[in-house]
Amino acid sequence: MRNIVVVGAGPVGTVAALACARAGHRVTLLEAEQRIDDSPRASTTQPPTLEILAELGLIDEYIAQGLVARTFQFWDRPARALVAEFDFARLRRRTAYPFVVQTEQHKLVRMGLERLGAMDNATLVMGARVTGLSQRSSSVEVSTEQARYEADYVLGCDGGRSTVRKSLGIEFEGFTWPERFLVITTPYDFAAALGCCYRNYMAGPEEWTNLFKVAGDDLKGRWRAVFNTREDESDAEALGEDSVRARLGRIYVPEAERRALHLNLYSVHQRVAQRFRAGRVFLCGDAAHVNNPIGGLGLNSGIHEAWHLARLLSREGADLDEYERVRRPLNIEYVQQQTIANKRRLEERDPAKRAERFAELRATADDPKRHEAFLMRASLLETWKGASRA
Ligand SMILES: Cc1cc2nc3c(=O)[nH]c(=O)nc-3n(C[C@H](O)[C@H](O)[C@H](O)COP(=O)(O)OP(=O)(O)OC[C@H]3O[C@@H](n4cnc5c(N)ncnc54)[C@H](O)[C@@H]3O)c2cc1C
Repeated sequence: MRNIVVVGAGPVGTVAALACARAGHRVTLLEAEQRIDDSPRASTTQPPTLEILAELGLIDEYIAQGLVARTFQFWDRPARALVAEFDFARLRRRTAYPFVVQTEQHKLVRMGLERLGAMDNATLVMGARVTGLSQRSSSVEVSTEQARYEADYVLGCDGGRSTVRKSLGIEFEGFTWPERFLVITTPYDFAAALGCCYRNYMAGPEEWTNLFKVAGDDLKGRWRAVFNTREDESDAEALGEDSVRARLGRIYVPEAERRALHLNLYSVHQRVAQRFRAGRVFLCGDAAHVNNPIGGLGLNSGIHEAWHLARLLSREGADLDEYERVRRPLNIEYVQQQTIANKRRLEERDPAKRAERFAELRATADDPKRHEAFLMRASLLETWKGASRA
């Protein structure tokens, strides 16, 4: 049994803490805020992540609080035309969960914290902002504004601006996109109006849209439409009523129904920490890497890291360097490259290249072998089956 401090009760820290506590370690989870952030962020949960949630005993509740999406579609947005559809049912021999579940990330945090709350070997401290760490040969001391904690190992799951990463002096290498992403949440029923499914990637040369449905806290369902902003668009313009209504109009919402329930405007980065481990401290999730959300890979890969690390820490004599050796290249070579390619596919401006990309997608969807191979990558099953089972 080890004494483990997890910094940050986001989805990755919560899964890490639960996985470590279930393995019998003594776990302290330190969260800076007094309440869990329930603003709209990630929701797409890929099959391997569902496998992890099943092992943690959360899967039934997780599915009950979300929406099951078996398919995803690519659209030519200006033409209002479906280009290709991919069906996870084709992976039924590869996973017990041949679908994606759209459950908002704060629901996973709530569920995980509830389970932790019932465990004698786990302690959650809210309002505990970590300010620094100091490592010794056989332990780490973690300081918050109020107290100090001694740990055998520390898992830095404190998000993109990670204090843990900064206190270790680890570079966050990469770049920030010049445009921002705007998320408009709306009750308009796109499935009924356009005949689309719950996850849609709508390509457009000037502006693209990532359109998907989530359950909402009331389980009544609502849609999230993610748009790129213009590079020179101010926050005030992007968030202004006229431009929000115009954007909804460009995804075919009739004039009278252009209603936003929530707006979220954020900067998007592609960055990877230069190291994922420094001595007794590990980085997981957004603390280790950030990427654009197209394809729903960032949070999923963070949860895979949390699981991988919890397994390594629980295996006597395990080579703990395996974590960085496996996870860092996987993020660079797969998550970063794939999310950049996903973005390029949506924003292609050259008409000939656009047509080529659409033809490629159709040909892939029409060929059973290529269809399955495409889904194995898009679902992270390929990397999970290959590398994640510590
Ligand atoms: C505005 C926004 C919108 C997004 N939208 C999408 C989306 O549509 N689709 C998608 O796939 N992904 C999206 N993402 C990314 C996704 O939300 C992240 O990948 C995911 O939250 C990563 O989880 P995490 O647990 O690693 O980090 P976080 O969720 O950031 O959690 C980190 C936790 O650590 C806590 N913390 C921070 N500093 C400290 C400290 N010093 N001490 C203690 N606790 C600390 C924070 O309060 C927080 O609870 C979005 C991200 C943002 C910021």
